[in-house]
Amino acid sequence: MTAPARSRIRVAGIVQGVGFRPFVHALAAEFGLAGFVGNDESGVLIEVEGPPAALTGFVAAIRERPPSLAVVTGVDVAPVAVVGDASFTIAPSSARGPRSTLISPDTATCADCLRELCDPADRRFRYPFINCTNCGPRFTIVTGVPYDRASTTMAPFPMCAECAREYADPADRRFHAQPVCCPACGPSLRFAWTARGGQGGQESHLHATTPHESGFPATPGPARAHTDPIAAITRRGWCAAPVALTSICAPRITERRSPSSRRPSRSSAARSSR
Ligand SMILES: [Zn+2]
Ligand SMILES: [Zn+2]
Repeated sequence: MTAPARSRIRVAGIVQGVGFRPFVHALAAEFGLAGFVGNDESGVLIEVEGPPAALTGFVAAIRERPPSLAVVTGVDVAPVAVVGDASFTIAPSSARGPRSTLISPDTATCADCLRELCDPADRRFRYPFINCTNCGPRFTIVTGVPYDRASTTMAPFPMCAECAREYADPADRRFHAQPVCCPACGPSLRFAWTARGGQGGQESHLHATTPHESGFPATPGPARAHTDPIAAITRRGWCAAPVALTSICAPRITERRSPSSRRPSRSSAARSSR
């Protein structure tokens, strides 16, 4: 039997916030390797040990089939002493030196998330901040590196038990997805409509409908956009991702308006994540 070997692998580029650690975790399982992967100030640091042939295949796979959102600019491999790890883990991030890693841009909602968004049976049905390892905000929420939830504007939103379960499950699409959230634990969106002229407001709940459900125009004309609150949201939605998602599948909207006026004077996203 061939003696095990151990390699220290440093991966540079856009490798944080793109599902790289879950990818490496799955790859280690595929090749039967033990060790760890973690983010640090320069990118991703991996140490793996096992049969030398498996190590070779593991490194080749990192180079040849990284996650679709990753941009790998360098893979440096160095042999290190075998330590006898029994399993493969995602290690806590560390940052000791100058911070030089790249951060992914925000990425449009993926097909899987869009499917959940429009599924009445899904717990994220019509939830505008839906995201996963393959999509969602990155650059606009990051506050530092290494990229972890604590270094994003999602830090003040503790995950609920269900989101935490997804986050910790290597088989889940949201395994180690830092912005993971849901209506129970994440940011919410509220449409505020305050009438002009000093009239008292009247709050009610408005259930919007989707363009597909009701024949509601996907791109309402200016006249309707100024007189219809749902149309106004929809029109704004194509410029701001969470609001766009809101308009796709019609969330519950809190509407505040004066009976004497139908012109919206202000809208805002409340409890925004930034
Ligand atoms: Zn997604
Ligand atoms: Zn949650």
